[in-house]
Amino acid sequence: MENKTKIALVTGASRGLGKNSALKIAQKGLDVIITYNSNKEEAEKVVAEIEALGQKAIAYQLDTRNTKSFEEFVKNIGDYLEKNTGNRNIDFLINNAGTALYAPITDTTEEQLDEMVDIHFKGVFFLTQKFLPFINDGGGIVNISSGLARFVLPGSSVYGSLKAGVEMMTKYLAKELGARKIKANVVAPGAIETDFGGGRTRDDKNMNALVANNTALGRAGLPDDIGGVVAFLCTEDARWITAQRIEVSGGMFF
Ligand code: NAP
Repeated sequence: MENKTKIALVTGASRGLGKNSALKIAQKGLDVIITYNSNKEEAEKVVAEIEALGQKAIAYQLDTRNTKSFEEFVKNIGDYLEKNTGNRNIDFLINNAGTALYAPITDTTEEQLDEMVDIHFKGVFFLTQKFLPFINDGGGIVNISSGLARFVLPGSSVYGSLKAGVEMMTKYLAKELGARKIKANVVAPGAIETDFGGGRTRDDKNMNALVANNTALGRAGLPDDIGGVVAFLCTEDARWITAQRIEVSGGMFF
């Protein structure tokens, strides 16, 4: 019998926002494939948490800088799915994996810029491209951007510019994939208390206060503020939402 349970793939879900999104997606009744870069142990814990929610889960290693590995990655996932569901396709792709770079324009090196391009733009573009034949019609893509694509904090020029690029990329995806009824949207978190950037928003009291004082709802964000919004975009109730940027920042810097 055909398995009708929808399947989402979340990159960078060993911790932080990806982990929270994966768990919230599982709570909506989807099976979830997660990826990690170096943190296999944490990723396996996320798999166990998803399974405890009654959904299927598996973790794969993926370095989104390594575009050459994508074809094999997509094939491995297809083989796994074919074996378990009789079909190679997923329904939702969540491009979440990412790292921070805090560097003033004057100090930014070419190597730093190249690495950020690889993670935050080239990796997102080609991973999505490679998955496109294996996303069911009517499915969706959620790209994680940042408030820093809208407002400016010194030191985030490369990161913010690339996130802005991903936002435009998402509009192109929405247009080009509309005929297949595939939605493409952006979730743009404000500053959230995760390990991101060495845990700056969570652990640096001055930074945390700066964020809280410039946020309408009066505090820095938590992973739990984000995952449910990503998960909503993976539900039938969100079927008419595409080409949108949803900022989830508690009203930061507006
Ligand atoms: P995080 O807690 O540092 O987690 C990063 C995740 O990405 C981890 O699962 C990590 O895997 C994975 N990852 C890192 N480098 C990777 C690579 N080269 N290839 C594949 N995976 C990689 O960060 P987060 O706060 O959850 O951030 C998630 C996303 O939200 C990022 O796109 C970030 O830009 C965006 N965002 C974050 C904030 C914030 O304030 N936290 C605000 C706006 C947007 P390992 O655990 O295996 O290393």
